[in-house]
Amino acid sequence: MTLRIGVIGTGMIGRDHTRRIAQVLAGAEIVALSDYNPAAARAVQADLAPDAMVYDKGEELIAADDVDAVLVCSTGSTHEAYVLAAIAAGKPCFCEKPLATTAEGAKRIVDAEVAAGKRLVQVGFMRRYDAGYQMLKKVVDSQIGTPLMVHAAHRNPTVPEHYVTPMAIHDTLIHEIDVFRWLLDDDYVSAQVVFPRKSSHAHGKLADPQIVLLETAKGVRIDVEIFVNCRYGYDIQCQVVGEEGLANLPEPMNITTRKNAALSTPIMTDWKDRFVDSYDVELADFIKAAAQGTASGPSSWDGYVAAISSDACVEAQEKTGQIIPITLPARPALYD
Ligand code: NAP
Repeated sequence: MTLRIGVIGTGMIGRDHTRRIAQVLAGAEIVALSDYNPAAARAVQADLAPDAMVYDKGEELIAADDVDAVLVCSTGSTHEAYVLAAIAAGKPCFCEKPLATTAEGAKRIVDAEVAAGKRLVQVGFMRRYDAGYQMLKKVVDSQIGTPLMVHAAHRNPTVPEHYVTPMAIHDTLIHEIDVFRWLLDDDYVSAQVVFPRKSSHAHGKLADPQIVLLETAKGVRIDVEIFVNCRYGYDIQCQVVGEEGLANLPEPMNITTRKNAALSTPIMTDWKDRFVDSYDVELADFIKAAAQGTASGPSSWDGYVAAISSDACVEAQEKTGQIIPITLPARPALYD
């Protein structure tokens, strides 16, 4: 069976996922496209999916008889309504992060999916599908004993002018927030944010760098440096310290040269290159589960917990130095 997919939101990531499904992955085809800006949808149709229907409204795409599954790749504030409509239609739905822009919105999705009685939603937390994090998880689960601490960093060379302090949580740390829960099989109980000396490269509305300190239910302490004007490259670091040893996230594969009395390896500068392979794997996983009428991978519950945890981190930014508790409701059995 070829899964017939409709894509809502044909901007940067919607176009890229359309390309993936049309040209890279097996088992699915793009039959429908929709965007707030119809010209954007028509441009993607012309370039990548000439047989797809273009719908003015995402809701019409979701309701279309020949659409088996939906990709929600529109602006974050529009995700909740589309995901709820897909659940109401009983169609598997891949939703780019964030699942919703508020924890209450994410909770509405969890409630709707629980009422539907089966998993229908996968959230686009692609780091879980990255080969490096997959290797790290295997070692953490089997070789270094009980995890005690995590030291991590998320560094970008620069960010655009509209990137302001809370975006360091909602747009940047959100990936660490999800991947550490998965890596450690744990949840957060508190967050604290402290600000080191500010980089002269950061503009007035951005505190940069920042250090986020998270504590988990099992007592693991996590420190994450967020430094989005680091200048030198896009650099993701993660070290897990366990009772018997420690494990580091591998560096992306690259050529090392010896030249002019220097040993050097290039560092990426664009985040899009760093996790490009993981997007293929996450969508392949979506296609496999959606063909069975369900979803796997990062769930609505994970999207909801990420929203609660990131809200606490933003509060911790606002109340610098204070420890902000993170309390989660009981997890519905659907997500066990
Ligand atoms: P983008 O280039 O701005 O594309 C978003 C598209 O959605 C735009 O064409 C926009 O049209 C359209 N849109 C806005 N409101 C809509 C609506 N109500 N219905 C249908 N389409 C609508 O943004 P992007 O970079 O692709 O990001 C899209 C989402 O993916 C965001 O939530 C982002 O956080 C997420 N994302 C995730 C990752 C990841 O690493 N997992 C990476 C990139 C992006 P207009 O331009 O006319 O508003």
